[in-house]
Amino acid sequence: MNNCIFCKIANGSIPSKIIYEDEIVLAFLDINPETPGHTLIIPKQHFQDIDDIDEKTYLHIFNVSKNLKKTLIDKLHCDGITLIQNNGECQDVKHYHLHLRPYYKSSNTMSIEQVYDKIMH
Ligand code: 5GP
Ligand code: ZN
Repeated sequence: MNNCIFCKIANGSIPSKIIYEDEIVLAFLDINPETPGHTLIIPKQHFQDIDDIDEKTYLHIFNVSKNLKKTLIDKLHCDGITLIQNNGECQDVKHYHLHLRPYYKSSNTMSIEQVYDKIMH
């Protein structure tokens, strides 16, 4: 899709801090994290929302989210993970994406660079 920011991230024309990639999806750190390690999983193909995405891609994102949940807990030592997927008026970027938002019992102020470094090493 022309002018879709997440299509541009998927095709590499806009840089992002990618933490996982396969032939179907890309997972990268949110540019404006609600908590350290806030991650988005997107299909590489453009789907708008839950009504648009096909079942096979949806299931793949589900499986990748389970693996990334483990990765974020192992690497960042967060105490929980919240999964959110917005549709309609509350969805800013109209390319399907699943948020993984780490939860920390005590305050955590890691920068995106520090988070990326911890996840990738
Ligand atoms: P939505 O409200 O659509 O569910 O959330 C969109 C999310 O995408 C927001 O959390 C926002 O910070 C993130 N985001 C928007 N533009 C970019 C970008 O160019 N790069 C990255 N990494 N995240 C983005
Ligand atoms: Zn798109």
